[in-house]
Amino acid sequence: MGTIRAVDRLMQSRPTIEGAGVKLKRAFGSPHLPLFDPFLLLDDFHSDNPEDYLAGFPMHPHRGIETITYLLQGRVLHKDSMGHSGAIEAGDVQWMTAGGGIIHEEMPQVSQPALWGFQLWANLPAAQKMMAPRYQEIRRDQIPAVSPAPGVTVHVICGRVAGVEGPVREIVIDPEYLDVTVAPQTQYDHPVKAGHRVFAYVLDGEGRFGGQDGRSAGVETVVLFADGDVVRVAVAGRAVRFLLVSGKPIGEPIAWGGPIVMNTREELTRAFEEYRDGTFLQAGPSTARRPTRPGPQRRSRN
Ligand code: FE
Repeated sequence: MGTIRAVDRLMQSRPTIEGAGVKLKRAFGSPHLPLFDPFLLLDDFHSDNPEDYLAGFPMHPHRGIETITYLLQGRVLHKDSMGHSGAIEAGDVQWMTAGGGIIHEEMPQVSQPALWGFQLWANLPAAQKMMAPRYQEIRRDQIPAVSPAPGVTVHVICGRVAGVEGPVREIVIDPEYLDVTVAPQTQYDHPVKAGHRVFAYVLDGEGRFGGQDGRSAGVETVVLFADGDVVRVAVAGRAVRFLLVSGKPIGEPIAWGGPIVMNTREELTRAFEEYRDGTFLQAGPSTARRPTRPGPQRRSRN
């Protein structure tokens, strides 16, 4: 039995407006650097009112990061400047490695009874920031559900639980991305790698995270753990569901300009110059389309 990770801090996600006017909640972002390294941002979009999300995220660039979209309810149409397009449906995951550059749009569709999903940003180390862009597109039925202990169900998106490996593979930061449900009156110990950053984000119910001095966390709370080998959650009267995410910290300088995250100011400036000049994309068919809406600095996440 290893060291149970204590809770470093709890934070409530907060309302914010992103893209072309999407109302969502941000669990963490640039004000919290470098607490979540290698992760940069987690957004929770959850609404039964299409006016909150239909404006979507029109064409915008990404470089130097990975964006990971996990949709629980609804539908998001996706299209990029390299001619790639498709729909992210309920239960699906899109793990997009922007690497050297992607220009894309993400447009939520009218969803009944609600749109509900998450976008996580993972940073890339300097050596991989300009890697070739790629997608891992995972359909709901490709995500295994395992029960590592009685009363515990884990959907394994990335990582390995009870000998079952999730479908997302070969990611630079060696991440784990799990959707965990723990039944009432149950305690679950989940092994994690010492030295990796680990956080949980509560979707439903309430759980007590950490060891002896554990802390209770409810819906829309992000739980950042201190170091250790085991994440412990204890559940009282009502089941808890949470995302559990871990990854190897990068520990490099971060220059963050909206949707582009590099190591230095110079790299950031160059990226935005290339975007303006139409030379942003490193490879692939020249189907890049210039944005017709305001540029990235004005509408970008930060
Ligand atoms: Fe994007």
